[in-house]
Amino acid sequence: MIKIATPKLEELAQKHYEALKSKFKFPTCKYSLEEVITAKPEKLHEIAMHYKGNHKFDMMIKAYKKFTVKVDDDTYDAYKLAKDLNVTVCPYCNRNYTFTVRSKNGSTRPQFDHFYDKATYPILALSFYNLIPSCPTCNTSIKGRKEFSLTTHVHPYVDGFDDKACFSLHVKESSFYYDEKGFDLELNSNDAKAQKNIKDFALEEIYKNHKDIVLELIQKSVMYNESYIEELMQNYEGTLFKNEEDLLRLIFGGYISDEDLDKRPLSKLTKDILEQLEII
Ligand SMILES: [Zn+2]
Repeated sequence: MIKIATPKLEELAQKHYEALKSKFKFPTCKYSLEEVITAKPEKLHEIAMHYKGNHKFDMMIKAYKKFTVKVDDDTYDAYKLAKDLNVTVCPYCNRNYTFTVRSKNGSTRPQFDHFYDKATYPILALSFYNLIPSCPTCNTSIKGRKEFSLTTHVHPYVDGFDDKACFSLHVKESSFYYDEKGFDLELNSNDAKAQKNIKDFALEEIYKNHKDIVLELIQKSVMYNESYIEELMQNYEGTLFKNEEDLLRLIFGGYISDEDLDKRPLSKLTKDILEQLEII
């Protein structure tokens, strides 16, 4: 789970509201439509608790469905929101790319997961901070209608795993240098919310399928030892790459600084394993 770090979120939330406010009739309730659409995560939770299971807001679900249908290039729709957010890797799993592309040959965009599911919380069906750009695996196959809440799970507009959850490899046999069966891959956390995310997105089970990547990291960590890295730095720094971080990205195939983890799939896995291997 990687925190969504798009700049100017408040402006985008406001734009989202302005574009949608005239699309349907919102019933009178404790909150204005603007509050409901732009509510930040904590407020979102308050509204969710207040109107859980209240179906007088079902028109929001209908409006959301309309919002997801591509009409033309000028209409504000889910493609426009996805493009504005520019979340290119699924924040829930950090495994799948979620680029937004609109072309005459075909279009693709991230799905929008409703953090508070829209069937239980219809009032939040179009709320900006309730719409999490994510991959179809996380949204449709795995999460579905599982009950999520700010009090039980990590919300990607609030937090990421950072140091709350870590991948680690556990050597079982000396064959671990050349055989995936020689080690185990685990994803552990001491944080109750992060643990819920790990469980509800089946992250540990799914990541076990990426042991081939971990094996390559182990092998590369041996090949690219300290003196070899030094030699490469002396030969190519400033020409082939900018600095040591750039070189490590080139070798190990992942962004490794915290602020770049959202740019490439498996970067959290790569970073944690490289830290364990004392490469970074
Ligand atoms: Zn995902």
